[in-house]
Amino acid sequence: MVRYINVRSKSRVEFIDITGMVQDVVKEAGVIKGICYLYVPHTTAGVTINEGADPSVQRDIQNTLSRLIPHEMNYFHREGNADAHIKSTIVGTSVNVIIDEGRLLLGTWQSIFFCEFDGPRHRRIAVKFI
Ligand code: ZN
Repeated sequence: MVRYINVRSKSRVEFIDITGMVQDVVKEAGVIKGICYLYVPHTTAGVTINEGADPSVQRDIQNTLSRLIPHEMNYFHREGNADAHIKSTIVGTSVNVIIDEGRLLLGTWQSIFFCEFDGPRHRRIAVKFI
């Protein structure tokens, strides 16, 4: 069974902390031990785990990606979102988190972020338990 988390991004580039939503899905599913596999079925978005306590870390990651992969460049892809496709590939579209005693086994400062690179849009994250 695959479950889905729905999010709505409000800007072109935005990281959305989905840790609480993922934990809610774990609880609803009654999973005590296992692996939570998160998958983003989009070509211009991603998912990552990084610091959630200090929001400036997310801004630094976004700014660094934008500096490395500018929005406007001489890309072959003419849809105007080539940068978003490249960022999606670099960041990746899946993460795994261990579940122990019904809780996501994350470090003290870690959060799970849905990474929007071509918003604003409605998006979804697939959740599968193993
Ligand atoms: Zn495109």
